Amino acid sequence: MFIKTKDLELRNLEFDETFKPGEIELGEDLQLTQPLAAKGRAELIRENRGAREVVEDIRLVGDFAAEVKSKCARCLEPVESSVAESFDLIYRPQGIDAVAAEASINRAETEIGYYQNGGVLLEDVLKEQVLLALPVKLICSAQCKGLCPQCGTNLNGGSCNCVSGISDPRWLALEDLRKKLEQ
Ligand SMILES: [Zn+2]
Ligand SMILES: [Zn+2]
Repeated sequence: MFIKTKDLELRNLEFDETFKPGEIELGEDLQLTQPLAAKGRAELIRENRGAREVVEDIRLVGDFAAEVKSKCARCLEPVESSVAESFDLIYRPQGIDAVAAEASINRAETEIGYYQNGGVLLEDVLKEQVLLALPVKLICSAQCKGLCPQCGTNLNGGSCNCVSGISDPRWLALEDLRKKLEQ
């Protein structure tokens, strides 16, 4: 859904949309498992800069909910996660802040992005919001033991025969003892 400033000049736009998994691509290792639902409104904000210049910003206010699937960052097993967030975003014309230093909108209150070609694609905005809402690394559980760095065994399913944790001081102490016994 492309939101154009030309349309917003006439009236604010309300949206209540769902996007199928194929309509929003999140990346190689991250997919939507359910349609993403988003609703909110788009409006035009006219920033007066100086005596004559008026900058048209697009403000997007709304919320979304998504179900995503990824791989556990530790054990690589599939992991599903739900995200639901609200957003309040301002998009300025690309390049405008390079020429105009002053800004009449408080940056602390809203997040600022930039638009090109006369508008913003809602799908792109939502993709960014989903990625921002997720932790950098998804894990299947806080207790996930991950994979053995040597043989790749999933340690959640059982241990392997590698000499694990050689840097662990307890193991080093045992290793010392074993060497002494061998002498
Ligand atoms: Zn895991
Ligand atoms: Zn191992």
